Amino acid sequence: MLVVGGGLVGLTAALVLRHHGVSVTLVERRETTSPQPKARRFHFRSMEVFRELGLAATVHEAARDLADHDRMAVGHTLAEAEQLPLWQPGDVDVLEVSPELPCLVAQDALEPVLRAAAQDAGADVRFATALTGFEQDADGVADPGGRWLRASYLVAADGARSGVRTALGIGRSGRGAVGEPAVNVYFRADLEDVVRGREFNLCQIEHPDAPGALASVDGRFRWVFMTSGERTDRDWPALLRTALGVPAPDLDVLSVLPWQPEMLVADRYSAGRVHLVGDAAHVMPPFAAMGANTGISDAHELGWKLAAALSGDAPPALLDSYDAERRPAGWFAADQSARRTLDLRGTGTPDPDLAHPFLLVAGGFQYTDGALCRADGQDPEPVHEFAPAGRVGTRVPHRWLDEARTRSTLDLAGPGWALLVAGDPRPWERDAGGVAVHRLDADFLPAGTALLLRPDDVVAWRGTDVTAPPRVLRDLLGPTAVAA
Ligand SMILES: Cc1cc2nc3c(=O)[nH]c(=O)nc-3n(C[C@H](O)[C@H](O)[C@H](O)COP(=O)(O)OP(=O)(O)OC[C@H]3O[C@@H](n4cnc5c(N)ncnc54)[C@H](O)[C@@H]3O)c2cc1C
Repeated sequence: MLVVGGGLVGLTAALVLRHHGVSVTLVERRETTSPQPKARRFHFRSMEVFRELGLAATVHEAARDLADHDRMAVGHTLAEAEQLPLWQPGDVDVLEVSPELPCLVAQDALEPVLRAAAQDAGADVRFATALTGFEQDADGVADPGGRWLRASYLVAADGARSGVRTALGIGRSGRGAVGEPAVNVYFRADLEDVVRGREFNLCQIEHPDAPGALASVDGRFRWVFMTSGERTDRDWPALLRTALGVPAPDLDVLSVLPWQPEMLVADRYSAGRVHLVGDAAHVMPPFAAMGANTGISDAHELGWKLAAALSGDAPPALLDSYDAERRPAGWFAADQSARRTLDLRGTGTPDPDLAHPFLLVAGGFQYTDGALCRADGQDPEPVHEFAPAGRVGTRVPHRWLDEARTRSTLDLAGPGWALLVAGDPRPWERDAGGVAVHRLDADFLPAGTALLLRPDDVVAWRGTDVTAPPRVLRDLLGPTAVAA
């Protein structure tokens, strides 16, 4: 398997593929991981993926600098800013949503962790190596002339300007530019004394001469100031000192990056043996912190499907379901992101089409088409409330399986499939199609009902017919799926 791009999503794809026992080569044209902090918020669902990969504790460790920086703050300047109360949805107990808490860690701190983990897991990770072109035929993908690389499939994690996507002629659709152009100023300054007592994730600065938002990168020395406008040639040290409201004598501007929030989704996620993941497949404004998180879910889902196709456990047609599932999910995340703005005081009129935020952060999007067996008459997953109930096409709800709260329903599938049964499991154990059967007495599962979970924790089938699971597996994966 070839992964192109060693950003956060490409590295996650390599890890997921190794988790499924697939041999992987990853090429990244840069010599190092990203020097830019970029994404910092990793939601429940991404942390669950890292948990499955055995990396959650390592990621939390990499996040220790920002461990107490969950709050938002607002002020005329940073020196005058006040923390806002920690936002919690009234209708959800945050501690019961997931076995993992979300995590605030800058992308430039996380990527080295993922790179080392991918190498430890046996991926052939080649930085300073660019893919300059590729060819595909019925058997695989190769560099032009097949001189140095040949692989069964190519995972394109080569970012928003994806050369692979362009070479395939895949266009993008969506709202395009959303809101105003912006500039991110990444700088160093020891602000520990100013920040103490008002630690923040984002601090909205309302000074009329320096409006914008300050993001904590390590909570002490490294910061990003985001402000609207196109000019990059401003007197940034002066403007930053105005925003900070303190002299900050050691302030040092590290980079100034203009960017435009955009909402664009690839018109196809797959072309032959090539599959797009991450920003190559979708870009979205950052206000829901969904860009990297959506990419991590792409990699998590594509990984098991590629592994099944490669091992012969499923026909290659299974891979068609990647586009059928992840493209609507990418569109949903991008559209919801485009509907959000930076409005920490919550003074604007909320968009009536905003989904419940936990639908985004806990992987609540429901697949309606793909590697699923939908039951007639099931209510769809609600969008304006967070009410996971083990519906087909959704992530299985989290419930602890032991009093010590160490094992979750989310630990039962991945890398294999799992059958969760409410009540006596024995009738199901007679022929579960080779899938591990677990008893689960949970509020969302009436006695006698079972859920068939895919390796990505998504409910593929739900029902009471004990003869159904092997048949469903055969329907979804093909005739070789079920051991005789
Ligand atoms: C200011 C800002 C804030 C953000 N905040 C958040 C947030 O809080 N939460 C969130 O989820 N997302 C956030 N995002 C978005 C997030 O950073 C991106 O979604 C994420 O980086 C996408 O990862 P990726 O691996 O798909 O692409 P990239 O990070 O762009 O990685 C692509 C990689 O592919 C390599 N590459 C390209 N072409 C080739 C080639 N031909 N051969 C070899 N290598 C190649 C590139 O060098 C690059 O390293 C933010 C983005 C910005 C700009």
